[in-house]
Amino acid sequence: MSEKIEGLHHITAVSGPAKENYDFYTGKLGLRFTKKTINFDDPFTHHLYYGNYEATPGSAITFFPWQGVEQGLPNTGEATVVSYAVPTGSLDFWKEHLVAEGIEIINEEGRFGDKSILFKDVEGMKNEIVESEGVEDIRPQSNGKIAPKDAIRGFYGTTLSLADISRTAELLQEFGWQKHGKENNITRYTSKPENNLGTAIDLKIETGLQGWFGRGSVHHIAFRVPDDNAQQKWRQKLLKMGFMPTPVQDRQYFRSIYFREPGGVLFEIATDTPGFTKDEPLESLGQELKLPPWHEQHRSEIEKRLPEL
Ligand code: ZN
Repeated sequence: MSEKIEGLHHITAVSGPAKENYDFYTGKLGLRFTKKTINFDDPFTHHLYYGNYEATPGSAITFFPWQGVEQGLPNTGEATVVSYAVPTGSLDFWKEHLVAEGIEIINEEGRFGDKSILFKDVEGMKNEIVESEGVEDIRPQSNGKIAPKDAIRGFYGTTLSLADISRTAELLQEFGWQKHGKENNITRYTSKPENNLGTAIDLKIETGLQGWFGRGSVHHIAFRVPDDNAQQKWRQKLLKMGFMPTPVQDRQYFRSIYFREPGGVLFEIATDTPGFTKDEPLESLGQELKLPPWHEQHRSEIEKRLPEL
C-alpha cells in the first residue's frame, strides 16, 4: 500500500508577455518571485515561479509565457480556477486592495462555507482568494503594499471542470483524498498536508465549456510526494491502474512524472526534494537567471533571446 499523496505541489499555466505576468503576480497579488528559469523543454521561453517567502511546496504558481500563443478560454477537461489561501480575517483587505488595483471581483459567494472572492488575472485566468485556517504561521512575502498578516500563503486548491467526475473522484480517493461534500454541481475533495496548503480540489461538472488551450489556461496541476522513493511507488501503482505516467523528469527543484487523469486534466506528481534553494540562497531567490546544467553552454544565447522582466 502506497503512502498518501497529500496536497498540491505547484500549478503551471500559460501566460502572455512575461513582464505583465510578473507585474500582476508580484505587484498585485504580492507573491514572491521565487525562481527565474527557462522551460527545460523549450529553453528560449521563461519558466517563472512565484510563491510564499520560503517557496514551500503548495505555494508555487508557475508560468510559461508563450508570447505567440492565442488567448485561451475555459474548456472542459481543464483546471479552470486557481485558489489561494489567506489567513482568516484577511478577505476585507483583499476586496479593497483588488478594487483599488482596478481588478473586478466577479463573485464573492464562496462555497462549502468558505469566504472567498473570485477575479481574473491579466490573461483572464480565474483566480480566487479564500480565507483558510492554519496558514497564518507560514512565512509570507511582503511587497510593502500588502501587510504580512494578509498576504497569500500558498494554494488553497483548484477547480477542475469535467464532463464526468466519477473516475477523477476515484483517483483522488486512491491518492488518499476525502470527499468533503457536494454543493450544486461541485464535489469537493480534501487532503491534509502538514502545511495546510493545496488542500481542496473541487470537481465541477461542466460539460458545456467550448474553449481552447492558450494564454490563461492551466497546463497541469502537480501533487506532492516527499521524495523519489514515494514517487517511484506511485509510478508503479499508476501503471498497474492502467495510467501511462512518463518516466521521471529532472526539473532541478523537484522531480516529476506526468499522466493524463480520466477527466482529461494533466496531472503531475512532484517531489518536495530538493526544493528551490538548490541553486541559490533563500534570501536571493529569483534574482538571477538559473539554467539547468545541460543548458548552461547556451546561456549567452538564451539570455539574449529571453524578454526583460
Ligand atoms: Zn509541473
